[in-house]
Amino acid sequence: MENERTFGQRYGGQMVLLAVVALLLLGSQLGRIGLFAGTEVTDTVAADTAVTTLPTPIPQPEQEITAADTAVTQANISLAALHVISDDSLAPLPNPHTYTAQPPSHHFQTHVVTGNDTPGTIAEQYGISTDTLIGGNPNLNREANLLQTGAELVILPVDGVLHTVKPGDTLEAIADIYDVSVEDIINYEPNNLEYPFFRLIPETQLVIPGASIGQFYFKAPKSVGNSGGEQKWAVVGTGTFVWPVNGRCLTQFYHGFHPAIDVSMAEGSPVYAADTGTVTYASYAAGTYYDYGNLIVVNHGNGYETFYAHLSGINVYPGQIVNQGDLIGATGNTGRSSGPHLHFEIRLNDFRLNPLDRLSGPVKSCN
Ligand SMILES: [Zn+2]
Repeated sequence: MENERTFGQRYGGQMVLLAVVALLLLGSQLGRIGLFAGTEVTDTVAADTAVTTLPTPIPQPEQEITAADTAVTQANISLAALHVISDDSLAPLPNPHTYTAQPPSHHFQTHVVTGNDTPGTIAEQYGISTDTLIGGNPNLNREANLLQTGAELVILPVDGVLHTVKPGDTLEAIADIYDVSVEDIINYEPNNLEYPFFRLIPETQLVIPGASIGQFYFKAPKSVGNSGGEQKWAVVGTGTFVWPVNGRCLTQFYHGFHPAIDVSMAEGSPVYAADTGTVTYASYAAGTYYDYGNLIVVNHGNGYETFYAHLSGINVYPGQIVNQGDLIGATGNTGRSSGPHLHFEIRLNDFRLNPLDRLSGPVKSCN
C-alpha cells in the first residue's frame, strides 16, 4: 500500500505519458480490427474463416492503464462473439449460424409423354437406360398410366434412382436399400450432403448413383370397373382376344380351383399380348401372387385384364403400352409350376372368366 502510493507519486508524470502512447497504439489497432470485421461480416460464409485469421497480437499495455484495459476487453468480446459463430463445439447444435443443411440442388430434364412413347423409346431418346428412366420415376412401377400423354417424367443425369427422403432415413439405411456405398451418395454433389453432418432433409430427393430398382414394386392390378370409373387409360383393348401362345395342348382346364388355363409349352416359347393394353405388372410375383413366378399383367382399359404366369422371360416394363399380338415374354417354369407352361387368365372386373370362352379354335388335352 505504502509502496504503491510512493510509486504513483514518484512516476506519476511518466505514467500519463505512457497512457497517452498506449491509447494511441490501441486506437490504431481497433481501427484496423473494426475495418476488417466490418467488411467480412457482410459475407457471412467468408467471415467464419476470415475471423480466425484476424491479427491477434493486440497490444498489452502496462497494467496500470485501466481505461485502456477495458477498451481491449471490449474489443476481445466483440471478436469472441464472432468466434462463436464459427465454433461448432460451443454452439448448441441446431444453430442456424453454425450449420444449415442445404436441400439438394438438382436440375433434372423432364420429358412430357406423347402419343406413342414407351419407357424404351424415351430412354433411348435421352441416352439413358430404361432402368434409369424407371429409377427417376419410381411411380412408373405403380401407376402404369403415368405413360399417358402429357405426363411429365424425370430424366436423371446419371444412371441411378431418385430416392425421396423419409423422416428417420439415414444414409446408411438408404445405401443398404440400393446396395451402394454411402460415399457414392455423398460424392454426388447436387445432393448437397455437407461434411460433417451429411444431414438429410425429409421430403427432398437424393439421386442414388449406380442404383437400380431391380424388382418392380408390386401393386395388385386394378381393373377400370373397380376404380370408380375415374381411371382413364391411354389405350383401350379391342375386347377380343388372340391366343397368347402358339400351342393348343392344355395340361389344366378352367375349373373352380383353377380359374385359368395351363398351356404346355417348351421353355422359352414366345408369349403374345392377347389384346391391346397397358402393362401394369412385369416382374417376379410377390405376396399372394407368389405362386405365379415371373408374371406379366396387362390391363386392357375396358375392364379386362390378362395374366401371363410362370414366365422365363419378361420383355416389357410396367407402363408400357402393348398391342394385340405383341411379343411380351417367354414361357417358363418359375413359381409354383411342375413343368414349362403358360398359366393364362382373363379377368373381367376382377372376376376370372374361362379363357376358352374368349379364345377361338379347338384345343386338346395334353394327356
Ligand atoms: Zn395354372
